[in-house]
Amino acid sequence: MSYCVNCGVELEESQKTCPLCSVEVINPLKPYSENARRPYSHRVDHITKRVDRHFTAIIASIVLIFIIGICLIADEMYSEKLDWSYFVAVSLALVWVLIIFPMAFDRIHPIWYILADVLSLASFLYAIQYLTGPGSWFDKVALPIIYMLGVISALCATLIRAKILKGLHKPAWVAGSAALSVLGIEALLDNFVDGSIILDWSWFAAIPLITLALILTVIERKTQLKEAIFRRLHV
Ligand SMILES: [Zn+2]
Repeated sequence: MSYCVNCGVELEESQKTCPLCSVEVINPLKPYSENARRPYSHRVDHITKRVDRHFTAIIASIVLIFIIGICLIADEMYSEKLDWSYFVAVSLALVWVLIIFPMAFDRIHPIWYILADVLSLASFLYAIQYLTGPGSWFDKVALPIIYMLGVISALCATLIRAKILKGLHKPAWVAGSAALSVLGIEALLDNFVDGSIILDWSWFAAIPLITLALILTVIERKTQLKEAIFRRLHV
């Protein structure tokens, strides 16, 4: 075993120069040997080719359209009306919107994802109502909840994207929006069940979230305090 005269790194006989500092290796007792053990692996891993997201998205879309088409045709032929295939179609459309749409279009404004999510989720739940028979839960609960969550998410995403919210104001707004969403969900459920809105369980989730939002806002405003905490946490 030789050591580099300049930096002291361990050297193999198969090395003409130091791998660290490039100083020439001269050791009369252990001259350079081409066949000596190499200090690195003989096996070369092939670097995985970067997966072309757009190509994958196109292939996945074609597969989904194919499956939906077959289901619709089969359903139409056997039951002579669209029944279960409608559910399959909206379920796969939901999968497309949630997974493949962001993969294919990764540089658009987040509001488009939210709009697509709202529409596909509404269609999915409408399909459940359509198949399970008449009922008012879709119009009175499901749709208002989806719209409310869509509007709150769109507002947060727009304010963050436009850089109106900065630093800890971003998580503070997300926490505040989550609190508002939970309260809104209970209000809509109460209204559907007995027509009177008495907020109860949602406060258990909303109060910690509102507290968190207020703490984050105060910390962000007190810049010096923020810097002191960040220094303590080594971030
Ligand atoms: Zn060296």
